[in-house]
Amino acid sequence: MVSVLDPEAQLNALLGEVPTEIDVGRRHRVFCNRNLRMDTIEMIGFDMDYTLALYHQEKLEQLSIELTLRKMIENHGYPPEVLGLDFDPRRAIRGLMIDKQRGHVFKMDRHSHVGRCWHGSRKLTAEERRDTYRHGRIDFSSDDYAWIDTLFGLPEAVMFVALVDFLDRASGGAPVDYVKIVDDIRRSIDEAHADDTLKSVIKADLAGYIQKDDNLAETLHKLRSSGKKLFLLTNSAFDYTDHVMRFLLDGERKAYPSWRNYFDVVIVSGAKPAFFNERRPFVQIDPATRQPMSGEVKALSAGRIYQGGNVAAFEEMTHIRGEHVLYIGDHIYGDILRLRKQHMWRTAMVLQELDREIAVSDRLEGQIRDLELLDRRRRNLESEIDYQALRSKKLQRLLEDEAALAALSAGHRARLEEARRSTKASLDSLRDRLRMMTEEVESLEDSIERAYNPYWGSILREGNENSRFGEQVNDYADLYTSRVSNFLSYSPLRYFRAPRRPMPHEQ
Ligand SMILES: [Mg+2]
Repeated sequence: MVSVLDPEAQLNALLGEVPTEIDVGRRHRVFCNRNLRMDTIEMIGFDMDYTLALYHQEKLEQLSIELTLRKMIENHGYPPEVLGLDFDPRRAIRGLMIDKQRGHVFKMDRHSHVGRCWHGSRKLTAEERRDTYRHGRIDFSSDDYAWIDTLFGLPEAVMFVALVDFLDRASGGAPVDYVKIVDDIRRSIDEAHADDTLKSVIKADLAGYIQKDDNLAETLHKLRSSGKKLFLLTNSAFDYTDHVMRFLLDGERKAYPSWRNYFDVVIVSGAKPAFFNERRPFVQIDPATRQPMSGEVKALSAGRIYQGGNVAAFEEMTHIRGEHVLYIGDHIYGDILRLRKQHMWRTAMVLQELDREIAVSDRLEGQIRDLELLDRRRRNLESEIDYQALRSKKLQRLLEDEAALAALSAGHRARLEEARRSTKASLDSLRDRLRMMTEEVESLEDSIERAYNPYWGSILREGNENSRFGEQVNDYADLYTSRVSNFLSYSPLRYFRAPRRPMPHEQ
């Protein structure tokens, strides 16, 4: 495999270059956290699920919930009426944490402080939240917490919320083993995956479950035409990968009769993140029988299918070093974090939810501006109150100081008394205004957050901060965008530049 960009391909890319990127709306933009020059990227890798293949989330969730509940009834002793519970998909967003011991679900800000928190369908008060989580930071490695960080994981949280309500009611006040609920859900999902129930339903109705992106084939073609090598690295097994990829790409362009023609290397059952930190061997698969073939893999060739493998062997065989590889995935832990922390490959994260988040913020632009203005006014009012309160306290102290009063003339004493009265009056009216303004800010904040999600607000923000999830996207993904085909609007030689981020003292 060649390790430098083919000069002819580079020339073609240059001559064919049209600066279409000027008009890209926010929803179709690729955002940059860390400068990245696409002309230094020689190989682009893709994850499949939720990256190349975007699912119809609500329908997939319904299926996943139904199949999981059936396993819970069949194998784990849950009563059939759980099928009739209300499973509201809006109860879960990416980045939530399940507190298994207490039966709570919560969202954190970037300092890992617990923001809003629900027990079943009951929202905890600020006081309850403080009492529960004030002591120390959450130990994420502890078994007591389950982090919902993939779209596949959302149904778990949705089911957990409904089952907590159900079992709390059924127990009639006796303690409920919430840990068991999480574990039963987890086990049942694994069972639905292991016996292929879930994937066989999807395979039978690909168009029903997977969004077909009309620009995907062209995007991949454009990247290839600029001389970049493409590879697929998915954790899915070959059979499922083959079904999904055929649905997405076969027959889309004449020059690529099969989806496999778009990729120089195809790796299935990649076991990320183990792919990045263990030394599993590559094994070739016979596409006809879908069975592993014997013999050591010494080169990665186009047209063949590999499973397993590891990043070190991959780089040895492709002769392409880490900083020249861009990997596009959707999972912070599986796809992005390790690569970033160990300075291996450059990364782009597909954040399907971004599309909606941007649409909502566009729609609410006026309200968000009002809120900022109101919030600034409120801060000014607060500092005015601080000043007046200090003044009032000083006047009061003077009035209580008999020696000082005795030294003043009667006229001065009257003026002093008058100043204290007027300061107190203006303080009272300022405080009234602050109360009203705070109510206004809170109701505006509330209505904006409800527009994102009635229970959780935006996935990327919590209060005035980035959410913990938003901060991770910020920290670990070099680029992020809502779908792979958004790259179509950009030159394959694009220099993605991160915006300058001022520190508070610079603003
Ligand atoms: Mg994925």
